[in-house]
Amino acid sequence: MPDGYVLDKPFSLSCPECGGVLREEHRAGIRQFRCHIGHVLSAETTLVAQFAHLEKKLAGAMALLNERAELCQRMAEDARNRKDGTSEFEAAAREALARAEIIKKLLESEWVQPLGEVRTQPAAGR
Ligand SMILES: [Zn+2]
Repeated sequence: MPDGYVLDKPFSLSCPECGGVLREEHRAGIRQFRCHIGHVLSAETTLVAQFAHLEKKLAGAMALLNERAELCQRMAEDARNRKDGTSEFEAAAREALARAEIIKKLLESEWVQPLGEVRTQPAAGR
């Protein structure tokens, strides 16, 4: 793991369709983006697709943390049955669930949507 993450200015934006690098173009005074395999998106389309991609990535991280918690709980149970120590597995399970809750709150929170509502996440079961 790195000592610390940085938030430098991105060198480029990624194509929400394929993940390729986007090149910015201006056509008739309108900003648009084109990737190296030909996807062409307006800034507005890119913004909406980028947000949908962000929600999907956050949901994926939340699901993975939930799975980590489940696996750690099962491994704690195995250790308990063997009469080994379980505290590290249980601590890791609690940590994963707590971090999943942080992401859940991020997903459920209101985001500034300059183009209007674009949420793609399910409305029920949150
Ligand atoms: Zn593309």
